[in-house]
Amino acid sequence: KVLCATGVVAALIAVFWKDSFNPESLSGARVLVTGASAGIGEQIAYHYARFGAEIVLTARREAVLQKVMEKCLTLGAKKIFYIPADMSSPSEPERVVQFAVQKLGGLDYLVLNHIGPNRFQEWAGDVEYTRWLLQVNFLSYVALATAALPTLEKNRGALVVVSSLTGKMPTPFTTSYSATKFALDGFFSSLRHELIMQNRDVSVTLCILGLIDTESALEYTRGKVLVSASPAPEAALAIVRGGAARAHEIFYPRWLQPLCCLWALFPSSGNQVLRTFYNYSSP
Ligand code: NDP
Repeated sequence: KVLCATGVVAALIAVFWKDSFNPESLSGARVLVTGASAGIGEQIAYHYARFGAEIVLTARREAVLQKVMEKCLTLGAKKIFYIPADMSSPSEPERVVQFAVQKLGGLDYLVLNHIGPNRFQEWAGDVEYTRWLLQVNFLSYVALATAALPTLEKNRGALVVVSSLTGKMPTPFTTSYSATKFALDGFFSSLRHELIMQNRDVSVTLCILGLIDTESALEYTRGKVLVSASPAPEAALAIVRGGAARAHEIFYPRWLQPLCCLWALFPSSGNQVLRTFYNYSSP
């Protein structure tokens, strides 16, 4: 019954929900993408390149960033630069934003996407790892957004924050990761209220993703999750479109939105069903 209701609601949303995406608005747009060396971030960079944007890429591995940069040029990026940076270091976010503003003359989009390795295992008491992950997955997002807000405000820009289903609905084996994603929702949804109340024209788009077929996600979840993964290029396009349409939230795949509503209405039975999608073999 639950699955059937979810399907009906998803179909209705697909029919009535049309975002106001205009691809031409991205031609010449100045974009900073984090976590751009691999996975969804790499695909986000390729979409912006196809739309003719001016892009700054960042992640830790310089050699890989160089390759992504070369492909972006062949796809049509108007300008492209990269800056290697490790977001576990508290001084890096400001340096990266300064670099992007200096190279592009300002920013229209800040796409926050990077994450530190997710262990996808049961909680074993490593508090230090949780502290470190909060720095990489959450505090660096806050610092990057804070450094970029003045230029985004000048340009009626957009903050795009990549989150996860487990930042709306806690799932097993994701204690620390889930905490960082809930923190993003709390911080950026509160910031959105304030920007609107202060008439500051910067949009905040929170992107809620299900399992996506990136190399790292498939490796962490192998044998543990009984859900099929969706394609990274499609997830990346949903993120780019959502940011351009200045949507408050986007869900990819779309059926995650009614799923979250159902879970909020029936949390106890929802959690029971949820656990059946995970393999647990006790040590
Ligand atoms: P990947 O692991 O494929 O890529 C992570 C990116 O972050 C890489 O570019 C990596 O590059 C960079 N990175 C890692 N550590 C650091 C660091 N310390 N400092 C700076 N950059 C770093 O991730 P995905 O593409 O799978 O995920 C992208 C986003 O999508 C994340 O926000 C994730 O939470 C979200 N998401 C993904 C899902 C999935 O199933 N894939 C599901 C739900 C949400 P480098 O190693 O060069 O630094």
